[in-house]
Amino acid sequence: MNQKDKARKIQRILNKLYPNPAIPLIHQSSYTLLIAVLLSAHCTDARVNKVTPDLFKRASTPEKMILLSIEEIQVIIRSCGLYKQKSKAIWNLSNILVEEYAGKVPESFEELEKLPGVGHKTASVVMSQAFNQYAFPVDTHIHRCAKRWGLSEGRTVKQTEKDLKELFPEKSWNRLHLQIIYFGREYCQARKHDPKVCPICSWVI
Ligand code: SF4
Repeated sequence: MNQKDKARKIQRILNKLYPNPAIPLIHQSSYTLLIAVLLSAHCTDARVNKVTPDLFKRASTPEKMILLSIEEIQVIIRSCGLYKQKSKAIWNLSNILVEEYAGKVPESFEELEKLPGVGHKTASVVMSQAFNQYAFPVDTHIHRCAKRWGLSEGRTVKQTEKDLKELFPEKSWNRLHLQIIYFGREYCQARKHDPKVCPICSWVI
């Protein structure tokens, strides 16, 4: 089976398993999504969803966030990994949004990636989930699945993103990102991992 056919078959399976993949991070706006995605680095979505209701109750806009001190943000997000760096990034990023963007989240990769604590993956999630732009955010889980499924030999997430974008139609990127994440969570955990019964690895390898 060539790679394109393989990709199409994987997509059909994922569409069947996850017809309407919901955005897993609680948010109410592009700003709160940006903060939630930033918090999700080195932290589970479930953990992020535990701290954000409290954080967003206190500060759901950059204007309100900079009224908190970095120490106050630290106390609220303490249970997330790297909370000290993240608190600083959240405050500095919010300050830049207020001073340079009239409190709005910019709608371009270039501007987003210049913000503190925002890398290409975070920017891609915000572009796709908040602004509906075509993007294919690739994290380490998607990178690993793409390799196991023989869709990419990329050594870096950047190369994997490029390979996946070539294999799948543009309009499916946003959805596939979520579907692969849900698939990984449900099937690719060590406990359940059994290539013989796996809906994808059973035929793809
Ligand atoms: S066998 Fe299934 S669960 Fe294991 S890595 Fe492959 S896709 Fe994931």
